[in-house]
Amino acid sequence: MTEPGDRNDGSPGRIAIVGGGISGLATAFFLSESLDPSEAEIVLLESSSRFGGLIRSESTREFLWEGGPDSFVSHKPEALALCQQMGLEEDLVRTPPRHRQAYVLCGGDLYPLPMTRSAFVRTPLLSWKGRLRAVLEPLVPASGQNDESVSDFVVRRLGREVSRKIFEPLVVGVYGGDPAQLSIRSTLPHLYQAERTRGSLTKALLQMVEPLKSKGSGKKKESLVALNKGMAELVRRLVKTLPDRVELRLEAPVTEVTRQAGRFQVQVKGVREDFDTVILATPASSSAPLISSAFPEIAQLLQAVPYVSAVIVAFGYDQEVLAGRIGTGFLVPPSEGRIMSACTWVNHKFPGRCPEGHDLLRCFIGGEEAGKWMSCDDEELVDRIRSELKAILAVTREPISRKIYRWQTALPQYRLGHHGRIEQLNRQLDSIPGLHLVGNFLDGVGISDCIRHARSVSEAVKEA
Ligand SMILES: Cc1cc2nc3c(=O)[nH]c(=O)nc-3n(C[C@H](O)[C@H](O)[C@H](O)COP(=O)(O)OP(=O)(O)OC[C@H]3O[C@@H](n4cnc5c(N)ncnc54)[C@H](O)[C@@H]3O)c2cc1C
Repeated sequence: MTEPGDRNDGSPGRIAIVGGGISGLATAFFLSESLDPSEAEIVLLESSSRFGGLIRSESTREFLWEGGPDSFVSHKPEALALCQQMGLEEDLVRTPPRHRQAYVLCGGDLYPLPMTRSAFVRTPLLSWKGRLRAVLEPLVPASGQNDESVSDFVVRRLGREVSRKIFEPLVVGVYGGDPAQLSIRSTLPHLYQAERTRGSLTKALLQMVEPLKSKGSGKKKESLVALNKGMAELVRRLVKTLPDRVELRLEAPVTEVTRQAGRFQVQVKGVREDFDTVILATPASSSAPLISSAFPEIAQLLQAVPYVSAVIVAFGYDQEVLAGRIGTGFLVPPSEGRIMSACTWVNHKFPGRCPEGHDLLRCFIGGEEAGKWMSCDDEELVDRIRSELKAILAVTREPISRKIYRWQTALPQYRLGHHGRIEQLNRQLDSIPGLHLVGNFLDGVGISDCIRHARSVSEAVKEA
């Protein structure tokens, strides 16, 4: 019988997956499904004391808190499909149609974010000049440029007002980044493609807000989907579903990966272990130092992917501080001068996260602003966010509970030139059989993107 690890049998042999976030766990799952036990031995190495990485859900007596992602989009089908495979169909939760409306702060007031073509044309958020400029969009010729910043692209096509009042808050609220530096081609590829194929940019734009759309009931195709017990339930199910032959190790930090005689040497807690295949499912900035001595060109390309931090501050109330409000929350453009970039009305967005008569608010600080609040005193941060909630929502009540989550390496930034760097990275990887990368820094920052990568990496490993 051939032993796993014997490369002469043409199998992937002994496989190390470094990182136990959703990328690493999904890769382990797909590999365990597709590879015969005699073909491979799989070891997943996670440096911290828990699986999930950025996915972190906590339940307290009254509230369900999400420290990282709270949902995924269903129009990218991979996350939904994996939940279904994990038997989580009954646990899926969507925003009730009544609350499918988000708002944007403008001049201190909240305005509905236009989510349909007619709302876009009528929105009081824009001046008549801004609306007129936006409706002229189909007449704007394609630029023919290979790439452009998100701001330049949107200003050119839809005008400065749409860019400032609608796009900037969306981009900062979702990607935590600066639209003037982010690449349209990599960050919002459907908009980039819409221009190139002369498709409707307005339609592509409305797709961005489609998951929150108020019209229609339970339109499954385009919605935000969460899990009743929080996103960490997907992590728990994955861990539980993995067969025994996948060895899961916590508190197993990898410090170096080198290669000799066709095998990889992986340093785990100072002990060397040999593998035939290594899959790095760690953020680009964590992977780079691991391989800098053996694969300096790849390390350099990984190091060039910038990240921004993110801070989440959430408050639980034993009264309805949102009484009378309809919707999922609001986005805050940088021009409003606030530190929060978004606030989610958690129990409106996904019911069942707190008891009747309670409310749960979750504020997100992204981009450069988050960097400033990473190491500050908790009380200072809480005071600042509470004063913003007071000014915007008139919430003065003392919360009964609160949570703060600080993520240092939170969101990769697809800056100008990202597409070219990833192409270069893939070319370099092609020359090193057995080394693979998976994660949200490649082409898609969401959970579904990570799962899609995990699947394609596992297919590549099987086919190698
Ligand atoms: C605040 C916030 C909100 C978000 N909201 C959403 C959302 O609503 N929907 C959505 O789709 N996406 C959202 N995202 C993005 C999503 O969370 C990420 O894309 C996804 O979780 C990344 O998973 P990952 O496994 O690639 O990386 P990570 O979750 O970062 O996992 C990497 C793992 O590698 C481990 N590791 C690092 N170095 C080593 C080492 N040397 N050795 C061993 N292990 C190591 C880490 O401990 C970690 O567990 C959000 C992100 C943030 C920060």
